Amino acid sequence: MSDLETLHSAFDSVRAAWDQQGGLPYTVRMELLKKALDWIRAHREEIATQVSADYGHRSRHETLMAEVFAVVDEIKHARAHLAEWMEEEPRPVALTFKPGTAKVVWQPLGVVGVIAPWNYPFQLAISPALAAIGAGCRVLIKPSELTPATGALLERMCREIFPPEVVRVVTGDVEVATAFSRLPFDHLLFTGSTSVGRKVMAAAAEHLTPVTLELGGKSPVLVHPDFPTDRAAERIVYGKLFNAGQTCIAPDTLLVEQGQVDAMVGAIQAAVARSYPTIAENPDYTSIINDRHYARLQSWIDDARAKGATVIACNPANETLDPARRKLPLHLVLGGTAEMTVMQDEIFGPILPIVPVATLDEGIRWINGRPRPLAMYYFDWDRKRCDDVIARTQSGGVTLNDTLLHFAQLELPFGGVGPSGTGAYHGWYGFRTFSHERGVFQQARLNGGKLITAPYSPLTDKVVKVMVG
Ligand code: NAD
Repeated sequence: MSDLETLHSAFDSVRAAWDQQGGLPYTVRMELLKKALDWIRAHREEIATQVSADYGHRSRHETLMAEVFAVVDEIKHARAHLAEWMEEEPRPVALTFKPGTAKVVWQPLGVVGVIAPWNYPFQLAISPALAAIGAGCRVLIKPSELTPATGALLERMCREIFPPEVVRVVTGDVEVATAFSRLPFDHLLFTGSTSVGRKVMAAAAEHLTPVTLELGGKSPVLVHPDFPTDRAAERIVYGKLFNAGQTCIAPDTLLVEQGQVDAMVGAIQAAVARSYPTIAENPDYTSIINDRHYARLQSWIDDARAKGATVIACNPANETLDPARRKLPLHLVLGGTAEMTVMQDEIFGPILPIVPVATLDEGIRWINGRPRPLAMYYFDWDRKRCDDVIARTQSGGVTLNDTLLHFAQLELPFGGVGPSGTGAYHGWYGFRTFSHERGVFQQARLNGGKLITAPYSPLTDKVVKVMVG
């Protein structure tokens, strides 16, 4: 069978199972989540090995934290709360409709499609799928074609622990991904770039399939001059060099007050030297995913230099790095202008433009003058100013005084806003995304329905008068 035939046959069999058996009962959801938990714990090293095979080199610790821990944490949280999430919610009824009763019932949406990117190829495929299972749905997963080793591992995992009529993994190239997005799913969750997100939304519109779009963007960092520069630099370097900057919520551009640029550059260089004293053989330093992305990042650095920027490579041991191994040091870009690609597109790698701003207000205006980002970071110990910055800007999520960590909060929704995404998941928000909130009104045996039924009479007039007031 070709990849496309496999896709259609997988969809048809999962769809048929939904039509015949419907959603998954609570006990099945709990059991499948437990199986996933056990499998992931038992295969943590294999996950690290396969992701690393796809990357050339991916730090084992980064995989254990961002792909294994993140999913394990999510499953434990879902198992602890699922019964409570699934409870019907009685709702008040207005006097006019009493003694009828009302409630919200959470029903699984049906067959869900998950399209995953390459940057956290395990987590961003399995985590939405598990949220859909928690909501009682059946799922098809399409991993990225750029991470075939992880895709094969996901396929094996799902085959080993899930019945084929509940979860299927379909692999293949962009043609398969495109066909996938055109299937009549009951919900489609896409994680990837804003440009492909646009195509996915258009494809889903054909069947009016609702979409959750987890997209990207240029996530800014703003540092208040009162905040200790060393501390900000350390947390920015952490967020920027985790997975070598190939993170949807990685700090993209750094805004600091004009007078602090030099201090910040020095502090960032020092923080890089502390965390990554060497790069070439350092197991903690992740490679760029493939030659195309490595060449893209190199060309963006060259473009910035050619257009007049000062580019500083943070290469603490001054090593000569073999391009074939795709380890790219952090490059700071000073004097960036609107003509440079690094100032226009999501960087998604270890390049960090530093933009001087005269005041906090100018920093806020800079952020608001651009498309709404997926994340925003603000460093300031002053709570009132933090509230003010949050109120005056928009982004999918925010971490204050650190980077990345709002992603790991299971009680917070994770998603973008506008061009950085639509909808959210994680914890209860994932359950909600894949559930239909069905409103149910139940009429009482004795009720006033007759009063508002034709033939209307003077009594109806009196009733309507009371209703309208
Ligand atoms: P991408 O958009 O190139 O690809 C994502 C997925 O879409 C892949 O599986 C690919 O096969 C599929 N695809 C490609 N063309 C398609 C089409 N025409 N129709 C349907 N599917 C198609 O993104 P990428 O390069 O894999 O990932 C990087 C992007 O993802 C960055 O922009 C990053 O910010 C974003 N991202 C967002 C999040 C988030 O949670 N918001 C997380 C990780 C990455």
